[in-house]
Amino acid sequence: MGGMTNELVHPGWCARNYRCTVSRLDGRHRSAAVCFPAADGRPTTVVSLSQRPTERTPVVEVRLRIRLSSRDESRQAEQIRQLLDRLNAAVREMTG
Ligand SMILES: [Zn+2]
Repeated sequence: MGGMTNELVHPGWCARNYRCTVSRLDGRHRSAAVCFPAADGRPTTVVSLSQRPTERTPVVEVRLRIRLSSRDESRQAEQIRQLLDRLNAAVREMTG
């Protein structure tokens, strides 16, 4: 289990299809994209994992699609700033 071997071992989450480029130089394992539906049923959050063989843990990529509620452009900018502040706080909490 784990460690560097000549045999190609994929993590359980690796899609193992065209997404996985680990057999190439500087390639990485990649998961399939997973969509999490919002309360209204539309997909708003897409999550995927990637990891180079030399790295100990994977990186999670989270892509958010959020409909802004304001029609005012300066208010939209403020909503985005507040969203990013909260996301940064959540990331700091997880990784700090
Ligand atoms: Zn893989």
